Amino acid sequence: MAKPDDPWSEQLEPVIRYLNTAVAIPRDPLATDAGCRFWLSDRGHAAAAVTPYRELLVDVRTALRASATAGPDQRRDQGVPGLRTLAASCQAGLEFEVGPRGLTWALAAPPGARQYLAEVLTVVAYASVTGAWQRVRICPGDGCGLAFVDTTRAAGRTWCSMARCGNRAKQARWRARSPGTRTA
Ligand SMILES: [Zn+2]
Repeated sequence: MAKPDDPWSEQLEPVIRYLNTAVAIPRDPLATDAGCRFWLSDRGHAAAAVTPYRELLVDVRTALRASATAGPDQRRDQGVPGLRTLAASCQAGLEFEVGPRGLTWALAAPPGARQYLAEVLTVVAYASVTGAWQRVRICPGDGCGLAFVDTTRAAGRTWCSMARCGNRAKQARWRARSPGTRTA
């Protein structure tokens, strides 16, 4: 549940899940057709034809992760026009319009991989209008890469969690500063 001071997490949850398939343990579900089919049907998109779209699912994920890694200014520039290009690549007949009444969108794809992608992109488009997308980060921790929503007031969070990656980085810095100690 979203806290009153966190209007972002719930809105972005499906996108964060999609972005984190890239670093899923034990494996990326989108790495195989079978995994991909399972992932989609788990999200209400039973897809007969997965093979032609699996690469697209991976490509769009890569583009969104790159956007989440880019600086906030770059991301604002990319915004909805960039998403429109991405949406066109999904061939889902997805169209965005940002007008005085906010974001409106239309979708022509049937249920399946393309519709799933279109749904994800619609959430991102909406989030980039509300400013929520600017709060999605990719953890720079060694071997981590988890996507998360920065819910801090100042939007200055770096790590997925202090316990998992923050402290590890702190220890590494401390070791680097201490002469005569060696890392195993
Ligand atoms: Zn991390």
